[in-house]
Amino acid sequence: MSKIAVYPGSFDPITTGHIDIINRVAQIFDHVIVLVANSSDKKYLFTSDERAQFVRKSIQALNVQVAVHSGLTTEFMKAKKAQVIIRGLRAVADFEYEGTLANMNHRLAPDIETFMIFSRPEYYYISSRGVKEMARNHGSLKGLVPEFLEPLLIQKLASN
Ligand code: ADP
Repeated sequence: MSKIAVYPGSFDPITTGHIDIINRVAQIFDHVIVLVANSSDKKYLFTSDERAQFVRKSIQALNVQVAVHSGLTTEFMKAKKAQVIIRGLRAVADFEYEGTLANMNHRLAPDIETFMIFSRPEYYYISSRGVKEMARNHGSLKGLVPEFLEPLLIQKLASN
């Protein structure tokens, strides 16, 4: 049976940190689905379609698909017969939140495992929130997001 991993997140927007995780995971699993969350209680800068399009544009690996989903990740996974949730860990600050989330998902779907993957040192400080903060304050975005995203991010924040 082919192994399918799902990498859920806001990706608002995708960063080079996310891209590194996706590319590393794509080398291990048969299929990877990047699941762009569309949650009604979160405020996003970009729409879910924009966020998904940015992920598609950033990833070359042929075994990576992108989907948009609102609702429980585990329900999406059951429908796709996916076995593993991927989450990334940067600093200690991520640890508690990710541990809670993994246990909550285990309660919902005991057959689904969460695999945590450590950020490489060159990406550990990169977050979507930090990138937006940087763009808002006219800091350089070089190396933080894919090049095509730099003007889009600046433009979006200017009109927001
Ligand atoms: P969410 O809003 O669900 O936390 P994010 O898009 O912020 O979504 O992140 C999705 C996942 O990717 C989370 O597990 C987060 O910890 C991880 N992640 C984000 N940035 C990095 C990075 N630079 N290196 C490793 N993991 C990361």
